Amino acid sequence: MEDMSRCVIKPRISHKGFMSLAVPTYRASTIVFSDVEDYAKRGERGLDGYSYGLHGTPTTKTLEAQLTSLHRGEATVLLPSGQCAIAVIMLSVLMPGDKVLIPDNSYPPVTGFCKNYLKPRGIDYVIYDPTKTEEVEDLIDAATRLVWLESPGSTTMEVQDFSAIARIAHEKGALVGCDNTWATPLLFKPLEHGADLVMEALTKYIGGHSDLLMGSVTVRDLKLRVDMRNTMRMLGIGIGPDEAALALRGIETLAVRLKHSGRVAEEFARALDEIFPPGSVLHPALSSCPGHQFFMRDFAGASGVFSIVVPAQYEKYVDLGLTGLKFFSIGASWGGTHSLVAPMSVAGNRVKGEAHGGTILRLSVGLEEPADLWSDIEGMVERLGLPRRSSKVA
Ligand SMILES: *Cc1c(COP(=O)(O)O)cnc(C)c1O
Repeated sequence: MEDMSRCVIKPRISHKGFMSLAVPTYRASTIVFSDVEDYAKRGERGLDGYSYGLHGTPTTKTLEAQLTSLHRGEATVLLPSGQCAIAVIMLSVLMPGDKVLIPDNSYPPVTGFCKNYLKPRGIDYVIYDPTKTEEVEDLIDAATRLVWLESPGSTTMEVQDFSAIARIAHEKGALVGCDNTWATPLLFKPLEHGADLVMEALTKYIGGHSDLLMGSVTVRDLKLRVDMRNTMRMLGIGIGPDEAALALRGIETLAVRLKHSGRVAEEFARALDEIFPPGSVLHPALSSCPGHQFFMRDFAGASGVFSIVVPAQYEKYVDLGLTGLKFFSIGASWGGTHSLVAPMSVAGNRVKGEAHGGTILRLSVGLEEPADLWSDIEGMVERLGLPRRSSKVA
């Protein structure tokens, strides 16, 4: 063999005796076939076989299988972001003339997608109050093909009566899909409560280190997987193996990270509930949170994200309050090892009920020493001008 060829063709080496705990990162656009017939029949390999890098490698399939197993589902597809996962669900199950119901507290780009993308293409949407289960029954009509849930809801944390809404939707012939990013499959398994499709932004807790963007959808019915894979094929959507490898690494520590952040965040929420006026702290473990009873009924615990409604008289101090934080960084996204705080305004996104006006602080508790984080929060509370109480958090 000439050197030019030796540069291109890798020498074969033995794998005998090599066993690693890590999942190899297989990079591939081309998949090669052993002979012409094998190549000609590649279309018969189905969704579990390999035909082209875009449609899967052993690395991405390992992550799919792990998510399927955690959700007790049948199959999972991976998408380049959480928002893309939501869009692909809707593009796969909705046709012109169909309608989707979305909760008022859903991740704001969901409403944007329905309003600015689906609606002009003949797919209608209706926004429902996530706390009014009976309203869902009235809103579902013959055109309604999908009922979307997000529980707890983005920023305001209302918990939905999941199984009741799923039952109503199914009785009326609609599919049930949900965004389970806050809970992850460890704290809530929507497929066991009536969902047909469960979406996760792996960007958050499963990636876990603020350096990865990915989404997933897990289903009970393989037909839904086929529909989504067809949409992805038409749009040319797939994910890279390096991202999948990061998610595979992140998921190994998910249980420990979530347990720790969830415990510390709940402790902080209870302490802050003593400092702020009643009802200001939005955390599903607090009895003041709408849907608290459903949280207690359905969830194995809380993750590390919750919110505080800044009382109107302290709003002018929000900038000052968030200045000089040592451990909390200011930023969107959440679920990583670093604690975050994000000042949010939800009023502009909400159409139902009494929307919280003003500023809401969304906190994501990471893995720093809890006492350091609490000293940061105490400083913030002081700069906001709230009366000091001697709440102790260990
Ligand atoms: C972040 C987030 C998404 C979107 O995930 P990306 O990967 O950032 O697109 C969807 N839903 C919820 C609840 C989120 O927090």
